[in-house]
Amino acid sequence: MERVGRVLDAALRVLLRYPLCDRCLGRLFARLGRGLDNAERGRAVKTLLAMLLDELRLSDEELETLVANGGLPQPAAPGSGASTLAPCYICGSKLEEVISELGGKAVKLLEEVRSEVGSFLVGVRAGSEYEKREQEVIGALGLDTWESIRREVKRLVGKRVAGELSIAPSFSSPDVLVVVDLDRREAGLRFFPILLRGRYVKAGRYISQMPWVRRDGTRKYKLSIYEACQGLLELCGGRRLVIHAAGREDADARMLGDGRPLVVEVKDPSRLRPFAPVSRFETLGPAPWAYVVIHGRATREYVRTMKMRSSRKTYRAVVVVPEGVSEKDVANILSLGNTIVHQRTPTRVLGRRKDTVRRKRVYELGVNVISDYLLEVLVRTDGGLYVKELIEGDGGRTTPSLSEVTGKSMNVVMLDVLRIEQ
Ligand SMILES: [Zn+2]
Repeated sequence: MERVGRVLDAALRVLLRYPLCDRCLGRLFARLGRGLDNAERGRAVKTLLAMLLDELRLSDEELETLVANGGLPQPAAPGSGASTLAPCYICGSKLEEVISELGGKAVKLLEEVRSEVGSFLVGVRAGSEYEKREQEVIGALGLDTWESIRREVKRLVGKRVAGELSIAPSFSSPDVLVVVDLDRREAGLRFFPILLRGRYVKAGRYISQMPWVRRDGTRKYKLSIYEACQGLLELCGGRRLVIHAAGREDADARMLGDGRPLVVEVKDPSRLRPFAPVSRFETLGPAPWAYVVIHGRATREYVRTMKMRSSRKTYRAVVVVPEGVSEKDVANILSLGNTIVHQRTPTRVLGRRKDTVRRKRVYELGVNVISDYLLEVLVRTDGGLYVKELIEGDGGRTTPSLSEVTGKSMNVVMLDVLRIEQ
């Protein structure tokens, strides 16, 4: 009963100061009573006040104010005549109309993209005039049971959309955000970035992941995977692409087999249709030397785990041995199968990476002697092992290395990634 007293007391203080509609009054007590609409809460409080009017011991002036501010039924007693119902201080008694109008606009907008959208979220632009007045009321009365008008509008518009279009709301990964503006009574759609997972293949050499432009503005490599994905930008009507890849090979190495996992992020898309439900998409780059195959939609979580995962890889290297290759060399190289390699950060990447020692396993090795001075080496290793250095030795920074076990200098002239294991 004490609670009832406190609620009534708060409601009385509010209404003696501000005229409020049912919804705006009810919102101040939104944390009390589950499953009720704020307008119901407001009406209930007003009804109770009306029933207890005689016991409130108000002055005639207060009584008149309360009746006007709350839109209460005229009490029989006071002689001041009919009081007029004042417009709501927070919403000008327009909130019901605004919510209904915004709900209608949101439904209409989403109806047009219904077939492309699996889930939605409603957002209410912050800083509206309603919000400012609401803050003033809450601040003046020190209430702690309120919810914000933004939250209420969000919920009510969302409920209407879900009900009329049977699209599910999603708080974690919605396809589209419906942004409503209370002051301007407008609704707009914002599509979230589309994440597409797939793999890229480089059948040629001298192809970088991102366009590589020198300081003088010229291109270092003519082709890039980024450019091979441009078709996706067009398909989704997006503004910008971001490429997330699971590591990278040197630009002069081919990336063969199933390719390397990547996620293409299309920023500010204006269409979702091509990928809901997801279809296979293949794009050729500026030349058929690089292509991307899209397998489906991805989540942010997928991008995170894809980047962290260290997959085993199989490489093929063509190696020049200036001193010539002997049978003993081949045997020594093959002895490196199933070995732990200690690798200090390669000299060529020291500028970009800190100097540490990595421990990586070489699982299998295969050697084909192409000529007296030329070897083809096949090697399956842990992800993250630098293969060029495993062969050439990097001045002893990688040990053991093919160069170390043969005692001969070696030079990798071609490198291919044959397979990245899932
Ligand atoms: Zn109101």
